[in-house]
Amino acid sequence: MNCYEHPNAPAVVKCAKCDVGLCRACLEGPHWEADNKPFCKRCSVGAITGKMAEIQAEITHVKASKGWAKTRLVISSILLVIALVMAQSNSDAVHVPILLFMAVGIVDAWRWWKYTDRKDNWLQRVIVAVLLGALSSPFTYLGTFFRIPKCNKNIQKLEDELKEHGAILADFQ
Ligand SMILES: [Zn+2]
Ligand SMILES: [Zn+2]
Repeated sequence: MNCYEHPNAPAVVKCAKCDVGLCRACLEGPHWEADNKPFCKRCSVGAITGKMAEIQAEITHVKASKGWAKTRLVISSILLVIALVMAQSNSDAVHVPILLFMAVGIVDAWRWWKYTDRKDNWLQRVIVAVLLGALSSPFTYLGTFFRIPKCNKNIQKLEDELKEHGAILADFQ
């Protein structure tokens, strides 16, 4: 079998994806590998493009997650301040901002559920979101302070990965 790109050169290995022959020159040039097995040019470009789309989707997801964490931080902080002010003035309605604070925790638990692979039905989801979300709202509120920098770090890492893959792809053109 000869190389699919260089018809006069004998193939030394096959593309791990589509089985065409690859010669030594192809192996020494830019190519993608999976489990140490080389891909031909066409399959390499396909694999890298696919990987880049995956990274892009992950970036979108982490950015949405960060956006929500910021929103939650602001809303919950305002509610806490209102509750404190109301408690200071012995207001009868101090339970209102506290209940709203807990409600934000429920929304957070509901959102978290959406991104897990759990297969529970909606009723289980409602019960857990309400119970766990409301009770854990002070802790998940504090957690948002850590969640935002964690998202930033993650976005940076993914964008670096995207850039690296873009540079590899540029090698093929
Ligand atoms: Zn191939
Ligand atoms: Zn070749």
